[in-house]
Amino acid sequence: MQKISIVIPFLNEKENLETLYKKITEVMDREMPDYEIICVDDGSIDGGPEILKNLAARDSRLKIVRFRKNFGQTAAIAAGIRFAAGEVIVPIDADMQNDPADIPKLVRKLDDGYDVVSGWRQDRQDAAVSRKLPSWLANKLISMITKVHLHDYGCTLKAYRAEVIKDIPLYGEMHRFLPAYTAWYGARTTEMPTAHHPRLHGKSKYGISRTFRVVLDLLVVKFLSNYLTKPIHFFGGAGILSLLAGFL
Ligand code: UDP
Ligand code: MG
Repeated sequence: MQKISIVIPFLNEKENLETLYKKITEVMDREMPDYEIICVDDGSIDGGPEILKNLAARDSRLKIVRFRKNFGQTAAIAAGIRFAAGEVIVPIDADMQNDPADIPKLVRKLDDGYDVVSGWRQDRQDAAVSRKLPSWLANKLISMITKVHLHDYGCTLKAYRAEVIKDIPLYGEMHRFLPAYTAWYGARTTEMPTAHHPRLHGKSKYGISRTFRVVLDLLVVKFLSNYLTKPIHFFGGAGILSLLAGFL
C-alpha cells in the first residue's frame, strides 16, 4: 500500500482546523490508513496552530510546519511538498470548502495509470461575478497557453505521485500551474469532479486582484517552459532584430 501525504496550507483558520482534522482522519482511517497530515501554518495569528499542536501531541501522523510570517499559499504548499514522505501527495484547503471525502477517490484514480488527478469544482460555491467568472476566464487562458486542458486549475485538491512534483520550484501564485508543469515533463494527467462547499467559518484570503497575479505568473511559467534552458532563443531574436535595425 502506498503512503499518502495530505498537505494543508492554512492562514487564520482557527474555526476550521479541528473539524478538518476529524473529517480527514475519519475518512482516511476507514479507507487508506497509511497516511500523514502535514499542516503548514502560513503565519497565522489567531491561535489556530495551538489547536493543531494539541491534536498532534496525541497523533504522530499529524505534522506541523510553521512559517515565521505569511509567505502565501503557494510557499506553504511548496514547504508541505518538501516535508512529505508519502508516495502520493494531496494538497487540500483548510477551510472545508474542499471535501476530505474526495481524497480516496482521487488517489484511487492514480492507480488507473495517472500521475496527476486534478480536482474540478464542478458546482463551485463561491460568488459568481467576483470569483467564478474571473476563474473561468483564467482557466480558459491557462489551458490555451499551457496546452494542458483542465477545467479547474485553481482547485487546491489534487492528487500527485510524489516523484512528479518533488523537484518543481514554485513562486508567486504558481501552485495552480503544477499540473501544467508536470504534464510538460510527461506526467499523465486527468481530472475528476469534486465536491465544493461554501465557506462556513473564517474569511476568504483573496479578492479579484489574485486573477491578475495569476495571469502575470502565467507569463513567467510560459517563458520558463519555453526558454529556461535556451534563453538565447528569446533574447537572441530581439538582439538580431535590433542589430539589423541599427545596421539599416
Ligand atoms: N492560505 C494560506 N496563505 C495565504 C492565503 C490562504 O495558507 O496567504 C490558505 C487558506 O487558509 C486556505 C487556502 O489557502 O486553507 C485557500 O484560501 P482561501 O479559502 O482564502 O481561498 P479561496 O477558497 O477563497 O480561493
Ligand atoms: Mg476557500
